[in-house]
Amino acid sequence: MPEQTLLITVTGLVQGVGFRPFIYRIALRHNLAGWVLNTNRDVRICISGDLLNIEGFMHSLSQEAPPAAIIQNIITEETKAEKFRGFQILKSNDVSDEITEISPDIAVCSECLEDIEREGNRLDYSFVNCTNCGPRFTIIRDLPYDRAKSTMAPFTMCPACRKEYEEVTDRRFHAQPVACAVCGPVYELYRGLERTGTGINDIINTVADCIDRSGIVAVKGLGGMHLACDAFSEAAVSKLRVLKNREEKPFAVMFRDLETAREFANINPTEETSLTSWRRPIVLLDVKEPEGGKRLASNINSGLNLLGIMLPYLPFHHQLFRKLKTPAIVLTSGNFSSEPILIGNEEALQQFASCTDAVLLHNRDIFNRTDDSVVRIISGKERVFRRSRGYVPSPVRTALDTEGILAFGAELSNCFCVGKGNKAFLSQHIGDLRGLETTLFYEQTLDRFIKLFRVKPALLAVDLHPDYISTRTAAGFGNLPVISIQHHHAHITSCMAENKLDEKVIGVAFDGTGLGDDGNIWGSEFLVCNLNEYNRVCHFEYLPLPGGDSASEEPWRMAVSWLYKVYGKEFLKMDLPLHRQTKAENATMLISMMERKINCPLTSGAGRFFDAVASLLGICQVAAFPSQGPMLLESLVVPGCKETYKWKAGEVIVMDEVLRGIVDDIVQGFGKSIIASKFHNTITSIIFETVNGIRLREGINKVVLSGGVFQNKYLLEGAVALLMYNNFEVFSHAAVPSNDGGIALGQLAVAAKRREMKCV
Ligand code: ZN
Ligand code: ZN
Ligand code: FE
Repeated sequence: MPEQTLLITVTGLVQGVGFRPFIYRIALRHNLAGWVLNTNRDVRICISGDLLNIEGFMHSLSQEAPPAAIIQNIITEETKAEKFRGFQILKSNDVSDEITEISPDIAVCSECLEDIEREGNRLDYSFVNCTNCGPRFTIIRDLPYDRAKSTMAPFTMCPACRKEYEEVTDRRFHAQPVACAVCGPVYELYRGLERTGTGINDIINTVADCIDRSGIVAVKGLGGMHLACDAFSEAAVSKLRVLKNREEKPFAVMFRDLETAREFANINPTEETSLTSWRRPIVLLDVKEPEGGKRLASNINSGLNLLGIMLPYLPFHHQLFRKLKTPAIVLTSGNFSSEPILIGNEEALQQFASCTDAVLLHNRDIFNRTDDSVVRIISGKERVFRRSRGYVPSPVRTALDTEGILAFGAELSNCFCVGKGNKAFLSQHIGDLRGLETTLFYEQTLDRFIKLFRVKPALLAVDLHPDYISTRTAAGFGNLPVISIQHHHAHITSCMAENKLDEKVIGVAFDGTGLGDDGNIWGSEFLVCNLNEYNRVCHFEYLPLPGGDSASEEPWRMAVSWLYKVYGKEFLKMDLPLHRQTKAENATMLISMMERKINCPLTSGAGRFFDAVASLLGICQVAAFPSQGPMLLESLVVPGCKETYKWKAGEVIVMDEVLRGIVDDIVQGFGKSIIASKFHNTITSIIFETVNGIRLREGINKVVLSGGVFQNKYLLEGAVALLMYNNFEVFSHAAVPSNDGGIALGQLAVAAKRREMKCV
């Protein structure tokens, strides 16, 4: 058999995920000699042996990589034969300014779960982990990633752990957070300020007992504190709502296992893949009536047919479910309303000791705060709505030179983005910057990303809105050039960057609000654009938004504005649910505001029309949480309905006939589901017809869909199907949120392109 020696370079997420031991194992299995080595930017492998074995090795390399590894590229080159003594893992090359990728946190693996049931140092040990699983990003202070630079630094490995850590064939070889009951972190339980419970089993029994008795327990997790209670207890969920000062916003539920979750939700194979993936996100699923037996507390997701469901991802979750009688718990971030999730032990005790039944802490610090991520499967693809634990800090690979660009994001659901090489590192979900605590979290995290990814800030990209906290934060960065980017152009370029597009496209950006070039509030934009610039070719007609910002939380205001535009004061005499649910003088007050143009900015936001229809149907007058109206409206849709309302095409799309149609249907007593469906179909047809018209004029065939409105499953699936049926190439978001959480990536892409074109 002829022999060969190959040098192989593997890039991607290949460090901190058990990659080298994997290479070692497959090299031995295929009888090859050589070495493997981590460098600052990739993994290099040298193998030598006969051709058939090399072929087998290459196959294993591409097919059997550890679950959390993401191989981006494999380059092989033949090199001169050398005499190797067996196969070795060589010492890592030093790190320069270039960086390797950091793994997100990984759900506990099945082998580690077996370890905690076995006699030995890890029996019932909650902080078990290995190279295939465990904390990563949440504990990392700096690169290169090793224990001393993580929050595991204070824990000195015991001899048994060290042996595993140093043994190349061991599953814990170079697993930086390796630990056992002898040497690692431990849980501590508090009732009030009193520490209680001895030993983990005692602690878990107490926590399980509290939850089964409808109590609330604060639990320190991977990326922050959680609050937990029995998902079947209406009383417990009510208490939790009072405690969190959160009236109706849906809570996520953790089920004991997939089988139990299936009793309460429809789960298709793609949804199952997301639910059980090592990232363990919250997956938004359609609920179903359980066959007999208990029902989930109705106040978990008040009125929605969607439920956020996740499966256990920490060893502790598994241990807890073994003791719990209830098969499902509400698990929500431990914070108050819009503040960031708490991470410190002291502050958690201070905040939760007096208002919960128990507080469970541990002594491993959380360095990088992360929330649970949220995804939804649309058109058979996972779409990330909230990108945090399990996803961050994996970069988005772009086709642009992004080095040194900081993109500051928007205002709500903020994420920022930093550029390194051609990679864009989107931060974890930061939240609503209007809260002081959140702003501090934002500034601190930005600082950390700059250090962690060795970024030398050179160019700043911000939203056009001068008053966003994010825009103002950029002003504090000294004398660097700043580029302001229109909000909806950034939505489209975010989707373009995610899909590696760099050409002229038709962009459809539908969302709630974003400042436009003309000073009005935009949000239903049809753009002909590339990464550098855009032309706004169509949008919905402007309507006054009486009350400005507060109107987005009060859908009835938008309904009144639309009714007044179409019917004048006549609408006050109509028999509409809106009139029965709000005071008559409220509508009159809005009319006088509009007549006198007091606090009535103009908006073309598509989301506002969804709000208005939700109000007209009487399902949401005042939103208890963002997008409640549109979400309730979507949940009414019946797939069978194909009808639409009339509308008028043009540079400005006039929606008068849509409203007349809806009002007629209401007066004639048509069901809400029919009206909601017809409205959705109307928006889909507006998108298609408008885009089709643009294609005829401009000859562009690529359509890019972005903006928060496209989190609507019915709408996105409908628009994608219709466009594709008509031979459009359609691009939408998957790994990057289509809501404002994805804006920073778009800002970064525009800045990179303008710099490349020397426009900066
Ligand atoms: Zn493991
Ligand atoms: Zn140990
Ligand atoms: Fe937006």
